[in-house]
Amino acid sequence: MRIDKLLAHCGYGSRKDVKQLLKDGVVVSNGKKIKSSGAHVDPEKDEIYVDGEKIVYSKYVYYMLNKPDGYVSATEDNLYPTVIDLIKEYHPGLFPVGRLDVDTEGLLLITNDGQLAHRLLSPRTHVPKTYYVKVKGRLGIGDINAFTKGIPLEDFTCMPAFLNIIKSDEISECEVTIYEGKFHQVKRMFQACGKEVVYLKRISMGELKLDESLKLGHYRPLTDEEINSIL
Ligand code: URA
Repeated sequence: MRIDKLLAHCGYGSRKDVKQLLKDGVVVSNGKKIKSSGAHVDPEKDEIYVDGEKIVYSKYVYYMLNKPDGYVSATEDNLYPTVIDLIKEYHPGLFPVGRLDVDTEGLLLITNDGQLAHRLLSPRTHVPKTYYVKVKGRLGIGDINAFTKGIPLEDFTCMPAFLNIIKSDEISECEVTIYEGKFHQVKRMFQACGKEVVYLKRISMGELKLDESLKLGHYRPLTDEEINSIL
């Protein structure tokens, strides 16, 4: 693997940043300085240091992002900034696992591991996703029963879902767990019950829980325990 590609993958900045590091003479492989961007190294065998710090190579990276409103869950977009624009480290091939609407906040997994994404998103896996929701209007037992039964929408009937009412008022608060991930699903489920969603935030996906200490737009690598819980 080219050294510039490896360093970019390991989060040492863009190819340009990495070129500068190499020029500065701070990259050492097996005791020898490397200055050329095109030099080849074996990330699994060679001992590579940047500024005295040993590189820990792993093929895949996993970030938990607290997605803010106004960012699109895609790698490119003509209209909005994307969730990938929020990730400062340059890792080729990063993408969001699944989609949150542009105005939805909360937990989004960002990775370059296509197989994991495929598994988590497969309609056969039924990974539970829990959302904190604010809706206009009061919520009651009728809504809980409708969610549990499976709400019929225009194009399909939802699988049974769980509705946990936190507060029933003019603006109600609740948590909803669904086991599929169709387009605008939570908003459409409430709409079918005559209620408009005014705020939506994903708080968990499978075993992965949103780290509430992450501010909106902030992210962190998953811990080993979190990675193992979703692999
Ligand atoms: N359901 C929605 O309606 N929107 C989302 O962003 C996620 C689930």
